[in-house]
Amino acid sequence: MISGMTKIYGIIGDPVAYSLSPLMHNTAFNYMGLNCLYIPFKVKSTELRAAIEGIRALNIYGFNVTMPHKQTIIPLLDHLNPEAKRIGAVNTVVNDKGILTGYNTDAAGFIKALRENGIEPRGKKIIVFGAGGVAMAICFALAEIDCVISIVNRTIDRAWRLANLVSTVSSQTVNSFSMISENINMILDGADILVNATSIGMGKTIGKSIVKADLLNSSMVVFDTIYHPIETQLLKDAKKSGATVIGGVDMLIWQGVIAFKKWTGVDAPVEIMTNKLTQVIRNNED
Ligand code: NAP
Repeated sequence: MISGMTKIYGIIGDPVAYSLSPLMHNTAFNYMGLNCLYIPFKVKSTELRAAIEGIRALNIYGFNVTMPHKQTIIPLLDHLNPEAKRIGAVNTVVNDKGILTGYNTDAAGFIKALRENGIEPRGKKIIVFGAGGVAMAICFALAEIDCVISIVNRTIDRAWRLANLVSTVSSQTVNSFSMISENINMILDGADILVNATSIGMGKTIGKSIVKADLLNSSMVVFDTIYHPIETQLLKDAKKSGATVIGGVDMLIWQGVIAFKKWTGVDAPVEIMTNKLTQVIRNNED
């Protein structure tokens, strides 16, 4: 029941219509019996400053940030936690009596998703496909724990730029490659973990994969950040090869769980959130 005591949370982005965060957080609030509500706010880039002032004025307790505001919001915040500062992108903001602090829970969510599946990434050889926003958060998180990272991207300049940025915080060399098959064969040799942080496998590319099935094997961990569909072609191929597979729902859930704790101070009901999200995505797939 909404009352005068209800605490409001939300997500700002453009678009936000298909975001699963309202479902995930409202499910958790309901289950925990918290008098809180999570609302999607479509905010155009030209309205970002006004939206942030509005958030302060309306005392919205916390919010997520999605495309295209993850970087442009930074100068509008009062504080940045060190991880968000290193990555240069914010996906979660806590409003403490008008003081806004930005965090990046995508990075921690990715690492948590690996560890919760029994995989310790520290020091491992990791191949990241993609050089966009998600790849950036993932690469910074991996660099922190001394991983040997290779970034593979369609646009080589973007891979090169990301590798240079990540090198500044890494104890290891960070390599960059363009997405051509000779490179992929060579790079995958001896890789411990392969991460898809491109959009290949969703939308118009459903059924497609970033690598040929015969390049996957049972000693690899294959992590696809895509959560819709739940099981991408890459994950289907990886499963057949005997590899350990982890899907994007896990990362989505864990970044949300970490944000939930920052906002409310309590542990989120991970299983309830996962079941709800999985059920809704599966229904949409049918
Ligand atoms: P982004 O910044 O737009 O980056 C997209 C990446 O995909 C770029 O590296 C791009 O390569 C590559 N790409 C797109 N189409 C391609 C194609 N046809 N062939 C080869 N490469 C292609 O997007 P993002 O925000 O990083 O999102 C990337 C993925 O993360 C999406 O699949 C999304 O579903 C997933 N995601 C997961 C979560 C989660 O919590 N699980 C959250 C957000 C996003 P170029 O640089 O060459 O264009």
